[in-house]
Amino acid sequence: MAKTTHTDWSPRFPLRLPKTNWYSLFLLFFGLSLSAQPFPVDTIQWTGPADQRIDMVFLSDGYQQEELEQFRNDVDKVATHFFKQTPFREYRNYFNLLAIRVPSKQSGAKKDPADELDTYFGSSYNFAGIERLLVPGNLIAALDILVEQVPLFDQAVLIVNDSKYGGSGGWLATTSVHPSAPEIALHEIGHSFAGLADEYWAGEEFAAESPNMSKETDPDLVRWHNWLGDEGIGIYPHQENQMWVRPHQNCKMRVLNPDFCAVCRETLVKRIHALSYPVIWFDPDNKEPVMVSDTQTYRVNFLEPIPNTLKVNWFVDQHTSPAYNSLLVERSPNQDTMSIQMFVVDSTNYIRDLVHLQNHTFEIAWLQTSEELTKAQSWNKHIHANVSPNPVDEVVYISIESSNSLSGKLECDLSDIEGNLLLQFDLKSERTALPVSHLVPGSYWIRIKDEFGHVTFRFIKM
Ligand SMILES: [Zn+2]
Ligand SMILES: [Zn+2]
Repeated sequence: MAKTTHTDWSPRFPLRLPKTNWYSLFLLFFGLSLSAQPFPVDTIQWTGPADQRIDMVFLSDGYQQEELEQFRNDVDKVATHFFKQTPFREYRNYFNLLAIRVPSKQSGAKKDPADELDTYFGSSYNFAGIERLLVPGNLIAALDILVEQVPLFDQAVLIVNDSKYGGSGGWLATTSVHPSAPEIALHEIGHSFAGLADEYWAGEEFAAESPNMSKETDPDLVRWHNWLGDEGIGIYPHQENQMWVRPHQNCKMRVLNPDFCAVCRETLVKRIHALSYPVIWFDPDNKEPVMVSDTQTYRVNFLEPIPNTLKVNWFVDQHTSPAYNSLLVERSPNQDTMSIQMFVVDSTNYIRDLVHLQNHTFEIAWLQTSEELTKAQSWNKHIHANVSPNPVDEVVYISIESSNSLSGKLECDLSDIEGNLLLQFDLKSERTALPVSHLVPGSYWIRIKDEFGHVTFRFIKM
């Protein structure tokens, strides 16, 4: 049986950040001489090829060579806790987890950015004068290692070998090894992976429209209106500034230990959907025509959440045919062509946004003629677009390959990793150049929107 490799059909599902080899782009566009030598990589969990899974990578800072065994233990603690937490628990098969052992000359972290301590990424507490804000000083060094060793990474987490309480979001989620580290890591991954805001009042400078933070207090218009009244979701003003509201009083984005609230959970699952496909392969594939005999079996191999919330529907000539991952079709002697379709959608209760579900319904269609299978296609309603290069220095190019927009209108917006909107414009041509040299280095989102929904891309400004 010919199995379809993902590369055969990924051009039709460009939902995720295009998995370009960052390392070669790096050399090509910046001509940097990379000093990073390869460090040992541990596999914590491997569920499938890197381009078909969400690849999460742990990095170490402030561990001396002989302390790297301890780093591995610290990673295991965070990873075990990560998969105990909804919704990562349900989607654990969607993740690959790796750990890169990066040794430092000295142990721990600086207590203040002005202190002297020689660690690989220069992590320091008291960033911006906030004692528990623990931030790596050298993000470029982290990117250097990631693009060289795990170019397809989706999320990176830095573990800093210091027992003082601390952490930070940003594209590189960071935590210390305080006993609460596994919880801190989850909270920071909430920021970093899904663009969630803090639900405690972090200060004026952090207040921004986000999936779980808003100035909209109208119950019909608030972003989380689908959840109002359920699971403790409401419209709760921040005491410190009543202009801003949060969806829950006791979410992990406010305090450590409780679960993510329903609104944050939905945002995380949407992000998981955006970075993965529920189909691993289908057969017959779309590589070459297949001779059809009197009976033909159609197969789809699914990537299943636990419990399995995938909803699958098969149709033969528009008629429902009960099946899950395989369907036997008998050729009708007096019919020249037959059409076989399979639709799959993740019907999880964690998503109430119907537009999102519509956008994440995948279809595979086969057309069988009297002699052969002439066509096998797969698609969904997404806009097919590409954002490159990545990382970028001066200009990022947005290319539209195709879109199902009825009006032909595509809107685009640029926001920073915290969700602050920086720029909004209409895409008027197939290829748009967006100058970014004025942006501060860091991670950014580009969102392309039509009447059916949107696709997002992350890029890193060097
Ligand atoms: Zn936070
Ligand atoms: Zn929340």
